[in-house]
Amino acid sequence: MELDSLYQEVILDHYKHPQHKKLNPSYTAQVHHVNPSCGDEITLNVSMKDGVVESVSWDGVGCSISQASTSIASDLMIGKTLETALATVDAFSQLMSSKGNETGDENVLEDGVALAGVSKFPARIKCALLGWMAFKDAALQSGAN
Ligand code: ZN
Repeated sequence: MELDSLYQEVILDHYKHPQHKKLNPSYTAQVHHVNPSCGDEITLNVSMKDGVVESVSWDGVGCSISQASTSIASDLMIGKTLETALATVDAFSQLMSSKGNETGDENVLEDGVALAGVSKFPARIKCALLGWMAFKDAALQSGAN
């Protein structure tokens, strides 16, 4: 119970103070992803340099889960190699498909573990995954530039 409210606070904090929510005009790939089932919509820019994620920036509208999750994902990816970043996206996808049975590895997902509870609500999983999938798409388009 206590843990749940702590997690809620993490999500609320990212929702109220989203990280990197201002499109950086310099990028190696830009994507636009929507989650029609909820109405969430984001544009996300990724800049890769020498195989490392140099910047992630985004803008968008949507529910608190989608906005907080995109904030968490963007903050987490900056500074990672493409390979590590993609592995981190996979770890989060796996957590979201766990139906509430996994808590996630905080060493890998950091604030992302706060979203573990979302995996119990199939209708909200796409909200939580939106920013991560957008990042993956943009990072793959950027390649190892
Ligand atoms: Zn949503």
